[in-house]
This record gives sequence, structure tokens and C-alpha cells, in this order.
Amino acid sequence: MTLAHFLDELRCSVCGVLNMLWLDPMRGVVECRNCGQSALTFPETGEEPR
Ligand SMILES: [Zn+2]
Repeated sequence: MTLAHFLDELRCSVCGVLNMLWLDPMRGVVECRNCGQSALTFPETGEEPR
């Protein structure tokens, strides 16, 4: 079971740190390991990169 996925190439919108965000699939949230900020994820944002 995977507990968390690190999200590459993503920057925290709060503290601006790069590659410190990780996804918690159990709760469906993204957290920043630097500032501890978390946010809900929205799988269908209409901005899916292709
Ligand atoms: Zn942060």
C-alpha cells in the first residue's frame, strides 16, 4: 500500500518550495512538507495536461 506520492515539478503556493509536495491518497489531500499546508485535490479540474 502506498502511503504517499511525492509530486515532482510542483511548487507550494504558500511557501513557494519546489518538490516538497506530497499526495496522501488515503485522505485525498496534498500537503507541503515544508510549511505543512494542505489542500484538497480535485481530480477533475478541466486542466488535465495532455
Ligand atoms: Zn509550503
